[in-house]
Amino acid sequence: MSTDSKVSIDNYRKLPQKEVLFKLELHVYIITAIIKSIKDSLGRWKSQAITMKAKMAILKTYALSRLSYHQYIDSLNTDHIEELNNVIKWFLFSSIKHTYIEEKKYRTLMTMDRAFGEWKDGGIKMWDLGMRQVAFKIWNMNRLLEINKNNLNNTLQEWYFEQIRSSDYKSISLRENVDQWKTFRNIFFPQHGKLRTIPDCIRNSKNRPLKLKEIYSLLLSKKFNQIRKTEGQKDLIIRHNINLPIIFQFINQTSHQKGRNTLFRFFSRTLPGINYIRNTQCKICNNRFSDPYIHFFIDCNNIKNIETSIVETINKLSFLKIRHWNLDTMNVSNANKKEKIYINLITIITHQLWIIICYKLFNEDVTKPIPLFDPLIIEKETSNLIKLEKFKVMKKIEQNLNNNNNTNLLKIKFNNFWQSPTNPIPIP
Ligand SMILES: [Zn+2]
Repeated sequence: MSTDSKVSIDNYRKLPQKEVLFKLELHVYIITAIIKSIKDSLGRWKSQAITMKAKMAILKTYALSRLSYHQYIDSLNTDHIEELNNVIKWFLFSSIKHTYIEEKKYRTLMTMDRAFGEWKDGGIKMWDLGMRQVAFKIWNMNRLLEINKNNLNNTLQEWYFEQIRSSDYKSISLRENVDQWKTFRNIFFPQHGKLRTIPDCIRNSKNRPLKLKEIYSLLLSKKFNQIRKTEGQKDLIIRHNINLPIIFQFINQTSHQKGRNTLFRFFSRTLPGINYIRNTQCKICNNRFSDPYIHFFIDCNNIKNIETSIVETINKLSFLKIRHWNLDTMNVSNANKKEKIYINLITIITHQLWIIICYKLFNEDVTKPIPLFDPLIIEKETSNLIKLEKFKVMKKIEQNLNNNNNTNLLKIKFNNFWQSPTNPIPIP
């Protein structure tokens, strides 16, 4: 080691107490500033984002990313995490007209043990902030081991290994990284060398150092081994024979954004406003009901009155025909996955019904026109969707011009699955 590096190690060692305190204050100051900027940014985006997917993308890209870099180095305490989770709940689940109020504890329509899951499993790919933070620390330590193995330590890293060898920790953050890595190793990789032997880093099946993503998903899978279902979802499975979570794979493959969002929230039981209304009398038709989802979307007289029109609209636009509008019809996993028109049509119709239901339950603005079930709107939305899909396929074909097999396959797929009886637009 050069004289220079010795000097700088000594500098770390001799860091005066006052300076350590200053660093801690600085850390709290920075975290507070980051949390404030996340709140501001979510406040600005709140009115822009409509679907859950858009909200999640904004949350991760524009808000939580500010935290990521910082979390490699420092930790949020439980108060910070609680504060952030509160603003996230507000952003994801409260209605657009509500601005964020610090003192208020926001309710979630989806608890964390469901929200963490993939979209295709009925989750929204939410981050568990506490867990992510732990993953960062493990990743940090694992990376240190990799650097050490390759003999690439800089002065600071040399100093870290000195502390690890002697188990005498001067750096709080190093201590945290070490502790988390040890726990992680004991649980998931008990065969891997213990830290006091200064082993190589833990590697994945491709012999690469574990990625942050891999560490995080191992930790998550331990915490929640599968998505817990709500009482309403259990009811859908047992009484109504709905294939959960398979249905979310089908919903995930539909293309109409608002429609997909509404049908997803119907089956994941996360629609705002109606989620907690149950075992009561319907404000629209006065009948009593126990399950708000089944009632407002299927059994309510509001829907029964337009059932014929819904059925006729579907049968006009789709090759797959139905007799009634019910849970079986809405269960898009019953249809062949290739029935693109049918499953997208169900999402579009469910969304139209939701607009009508919201108006009847919540509208206070008398000047707003009453939404009706209009087959022409459904037809227009469907036809726009087909055109958009055609455009996307044509783009792909353009890029694939040199590969005849691919081009033909794309054509066949579109021409088989995206045609409607009223408006066929095959690619020649
Ligand atoms: Zn009703």
